[in-house]
Amino acid sequence: MGYSGVKQRIEELRAVLRENSRKYYVDNAPTMSDQEYDFLMHELEALEAQYPEFQSPDSPTQRVGSDIDAPFGENAELQTGADFVKRAHRYPMLSLGNTYSIAEVEEFAARADKSLDFPFTYCCELKFDGTAICLTYRDGKLVQALTRGDGVQGDDVTENVKRISNIPQSLHGDYPSEFEIRGEILMPFASFEALNKEREDIGEAPFANPRNAASGSLKLGNPEEVGRRGLWCTLYHIPAQSVPFDTHDEALAKAASWGLPVSEHRRLCKDMDEIRRFIDHWDKARRDLPFATDGIVIKINELQAQRALGYTAKSPRWAVAYKFKAEQACTPLLSIDYQVGRTGAVTPVANLEPVQLGGTTVKRATLVNEDQIASLDIRVGDSVYVEKGGEIIPKITGVNLDLRPAGAVPPEFPKLCPDCGTPLVKQEGEAKWFCPNRDGCPTQIKGRIIHFIGRKAMNVLAGDATVDQFYAAGLVRTPSDLYRINKYQLLSLEGWQEKSAQRFLDSLAQTRDVPFERVLFALGIRFVGESTARDIARHFVDIDTIAAADKEQLLEVAEVGEVIAGSVYDYMHNPASLEEIARLKAAGLQFSAAGTAEAASDTLAGKTIVISGNFSISRDDMKELIIANGGKCAGSVSGSTSFLLAGSKPGPEKLRKCSQLGIPVLSEAEFRALLPGAPQKEEVEELTLF
Ligand code: NAD
Repeated sequence: MGYSGVKQRIEELRAVLRENSRKYYVDNAPTMSDQEYDFLMHELEALEAQYPEFQSPDSPTQRVGSDIDAPFGENAELQTGADFVKRAHRYPMLSLGNTYSIAEVEEFAARADKSLDFPFTYCCELKFDGTAICLTYRDGKLVQALTRGDGVQGDDVTENVKRISNIPQSLHGDYPSEFEIRGEILMPFASFEALNKEREDIGEAPFANPRNAASGSLKLGNPEEVGRRGLWCTLYHIPAQSVPFDTHDEALAKAASWGLPVSEHRRLCKDMDEIRRFIDHWDKARRDLPFATDGIVIKINELQAQRALGYTAKSPRWAVAYKFKAEQACTPLLSIDYQVGRTGAVTPVANLEPVQLGGTTVKRATLVNEDQIASLDIRVGDSVYVEKGGEIIPKITGVNLDLRPAGAVPPEFPKLCPDCGTPLVKQEGEAKWFCPNRDGCPTQIKGRIIHFIGRKAMNVLAGDATVDQFYAAGLVRTPSDLYRINKYQLLSLEGWQEKSAQRFLDSLAQTRDVPFERVLFALGIRFVGESTARDIARHFVDIDTIAAADKEQLLEVAEVGEVIAGSVYDYMHNPASLEEIARLKAAGLQFSAAGTAEAASDTLAGKTIVISGNFSISRDDMKELIIANGGKCAGSVSGSTSFLLAGSKPGPEKLRKCSQLGIPVLSEAEFRALLPGAPQKEEVEELTLF
């Protein structure tokens, strides 16, 4: 790799890691396995170590992954989207250095040996796969529970944590007057299965794994519901500054004597042999635990040694996590489906004899692409090894050749699109076969519309089945066709009634308030994920400037490398895309970033605004928008409130107070009309097509 190649690879890795960190921590819906994520992170660490001139304090290698959607900097009292107050941690909550190799655990031990000139031991513990929590007890009472957040400040989830049955609200014994203790909130497999079944029954997407379910449940706005979810806690760390003990193990034993749930599965080890034995034992024994573990944490036990070794920006130098490789199961491959995606890529998907894996039942697994099938020599009828990392769709990683049935033949990858019959093509440098019939292949057409209406894109109240129905009725071929559908047409379709039709049209009308960066994401440009769309929108401010940009100018956007720049350039030079953009513009969608941080103004200077209800953007983003335009946010309505910005389902108490005090209530559309560059109300109405 040449020098410029290194820079580009670093940028690509940072972009991919940021995007996936967001999916994992904020959306609780990872699409990449932890192992893959960790390997990419290690590649980035190695490149940054080799080329220090490219190091940056913003790099994912230097930051703790944040579960905070849109940080508000120093202000510890600002409320987050789910109405949690953010509070600063007394001691930063960091991550852990991790490895999948015993040799690197040996290196960790050797480094500690070299740096410390007094004897020390190790405390080995299970690495619980949940979400971190920091509890504060004052005078024996639980007074605060904070999530890790961005490591510096976290969400105050005290009320929710009080509903977790094994966390005591009062302690007994000789506890200190005030101390912090940290640990993990977990969702046991049994609660996870029950919750996902319930979600599937009511048509909601299941959680990918117990970790995501625990983290999503802890952030619910309804403590009663949190109590119902069967969460569970285990505690493993008292910050050394917080209480005077000599060793970590002693601190935990004391915490247990006060009634706190401390894991009993820990062992003091004096050398690598004992550490290795602990790891080997739990690599098997963990399968019998009722909750998920993803490794072993090896900590130096003596607090004096911990203090001597200290911390990096991201993790303690006195601990390391050895992560277990993803769990595997072996099961027969029944058949292979070939699925076309919205980009035209054809992915082989394996139908498996159902098998238990990582606490869930697995029936399907991705086979990735033709080369993967060939390189693993997979045949229908084979017993295949399946692995599951963080993602919902597991992967096939190998074949048990001893169990191959006689006569099993290699599968033939289809030559024609399984949906529209067009001959498939493979471009140079691509591993996947594509259906080139972009504008005629039903799955691709519907896939683009489904992406466009998705929750993170335009957030329209409609699902895949509705898109199928519209497509079959000939109503939609591109996303802009949605804006031509009228109520009469809806009512002529099966299952539609006045109320559902109006709800759909209202939800579509609300997409005119969706900010440009999400509209750009909704267009479905290949390789342009949510955060890349945001970076591009903020850099260029409007669509015409993006369309006029050459590849060099596109490369100026932080995190945009050759591949993304090429894809955006091609999209913007395709007449069909430009026509679609023109139609969406005419439908009133936002194609300019007016109102985002870069388009800041002082329009709201001197105004104190209270927000309530749900908006087309997250509440954090709405607060950011207010602040970017010079306004202030307040948590409750008072005489000094300038107006209440009310989304759907605003709080009745806030509305009542406004009417009592004569304070105006503005809808999202009315509010946006105040901001510079926003389309004016009359213009929008004129452009309404139904
Ligand atoms: P981590 O989960 O690898 O390790 C640190 C965390 O371990 C601590 O914050 C703590 O919550 C937990 N922990 C559990 N048991 C513990 C114990 N006994 N002692 C101390 N801590 C214990 O690190 P992280 O910063 O929380 O998350 C980063 C990891 O998350 C990555 O390494 C990756 O595996 C995963 N991740 C995956 C994706 C994805 O797309 N799949 C994206 C982002 C992050």
